[in-house]
Amino acid sequence: MSNLKPSENSHGAGKTKKSHKYIFVIGGVMSGVGKGITTSSIGAILQSKGFVVNLMKVDPYLNVDAGTMNPVEHGEVFVLDSGLETDQDLGNYERFLNRSLTGDDYITSGMVYKHVIEAERALKYGGKCVEAIPQIRDEIIRRFEKSAKVNKSDITVVEIGGTVGDYQNVMFIEAARVMKVMHPNDVAFVMVSYMPVPPMLGEMKSKPTQNAIRQLFSYGVNTDIIIARSEVPMDEKRREKIAISCSLPTEQVISAPDIESVFDVPLNFEKGDISHILLKLLHLRKKQNETGMKEWEKFANVVKNTKDTVDIAIVGKYFNTGDFVLTDAYVSVLEAIKYSSYKLGKKAKIHTVNARDYEGEKAKNADFKALEKYDGIIVPGGFGESGIEGKLAVIQYAREHKIPYFGLCYGMQLMVIEYARNVLGLEDANTTEINPKTKNPIIDIMPDQKKLLEECNYGGSMRLGAYDANLEKGTIAYEAYGKDVIQERHRHRYEVNPEYVEKITDAGLIFSGKSPSGILMEIAELPRKEHPFFLGTQFHPEFLARPLAPHPLFTEFIKAAIKIKTK
Ligand code: GLN
Repeated sequence: MSNLKPSENSHGAGKTKKSHKYIFVIGGVMSGVGKGITTSSIGAILQSKGFVVNLMKVDPYLNVDAGTMNPVEHGEVFVLDSGLETDQDLGNYERFLNRSLTGDDYITSGMVYKHVIEAERALKYGGKCVEAIPQIRDEIIRRFEKSAKVNKSDITVVEIGGTVGDYQNVMFIEAARVMKVMHPNDVAFVMVSYMPVPPMLGEMKSKPTQNAIRQLFSYGVNTDIIIARSEVPMDEKRREKIAISCSLPTEQVISAPDIESVFDVPLNFEKGDISHILLKLLHLRKKQNETGMKEWEKFANVVKNTKDTVDIAIVGKYFNTGDFVLTDAYVSVLEAIKYSSYKLGKKAKIHTVNARDYEGEKAKNADFKALEKYDGIIVPGGFGESGIEGKLAVIQYAREHKIPYFGLCYGMQLMVIEYARNVLGLEDANTTEINPKTKNPIIDIMPDQKKLLEECNYGGSMRLGAYDANLEKGTIAYEAYGKDVIQERHRHRYEVNPEYVEKITDAGLIFSGKSPSGILMEIAELPRKEHPFFLGTQFHPEFLARPLAPHPLFTEFIKAAIKIKTK
């Protein structure tokens, strides 16, 4: 065992009660095979067994958070109540657990190193030489334990980003290994690995997975469970081969073939008896207060059996990467649309529309009429100039042709600009994000945000996280939420300029949600008698949409879309 004793940890690692349980999920062979969904599913299953579970993600990159990363490359930035900008996997965790995570549930190497280096600068290590081991490793352990404590959980499931063999995540695996050494009965490892079936061979190959297991073993960790991801179910022969190569009983190798819906994954894992295996590995007894997965099962069945469709377009710009079209940058928006559609008995057919096809030279030949084939249009969040005029043109079309429109953050700001330009006649209405010199800065930067930009202080410095808003009775927003005060998550620097609020309101656009001070506009909408649904939010409602608790505004939007369809 390592010579690390709990009391020797520089930051008190090892102090949580000894019986706390940890499951570490590690990837083998390659990324993108479902580690996040595996982590989420294990969480949902154990929660249904009556345990308090918290899920954590560890990202090995040196960015301090995910906020500064390009969404085309890295996917959506998911914002927590606390305002922490995280990886999109945390969105899945919240959706599967049906609850919000805390700011302690996400770790990056950048965060860990920054903390340790700052502590070193402040002489917190009492003159010691500060090194990756033990200081970085112990800081990681401290963060695992803190998250467990803050969440008051029984079991913490930690997803380690990347794949075994990456240089970047070695320190996290090392921290997990040490925890296992210190508490052998309280820590279990799950490896999610890929079993390819090369078309020219037509046979499932287990060698890459065997190598990944060996690689993990070279770090001193033997996995306890293998989740074998593949296009088709794994046969017994290969299952035994894998089991032998990592000295595991065959039951601990679980076949996880591709399935139609991710919501079936927890149900499939349970067919492999995963909760029973995990409880045994963690020396845990079954709880009396099991809730079971009935509600989840019901939802998974709705997903499979809903046939009737509703067509929704997302007009964005983060779709194209190389030769591929990816929707990862908008994953929470996509999910939110789906959940509300299912709630209303429809399957959402989501279309991606590139905003740039509706601006500049392309606007001349753009087929605006084609937008009418969509039952609803969403303009999601975004930054910068590109695609803006295209989005504005689409919004104008949706307003004038009474196509349900839902604007999220930038989508709301642009909706207000469009209204100012085309209804108030302020032709140069704009956001100062694009034109700082415009005579009509309908959307403007907040003074404190301006200062941050002048200092080039970009990371984690927007208006971030959960804020209250007051709703006005008699509006669509109020009808949807059914309450006076809401709390929603934000991620933006710019706001509706208070100087224009009266003018815009006089021209007919209602600000139905405002910050408690009344200064910040949180929701804009047109009255129902004028438009079936023309509403935008300065916040990101998509972050709070859950399969078992769809978001009320998305549901209201889809309701309007369905009405158009059935007309
Ligand atoms: N770019 C806009 C702002 O910073 C909108 C941000 C967003 O859509 N998340 O205010």
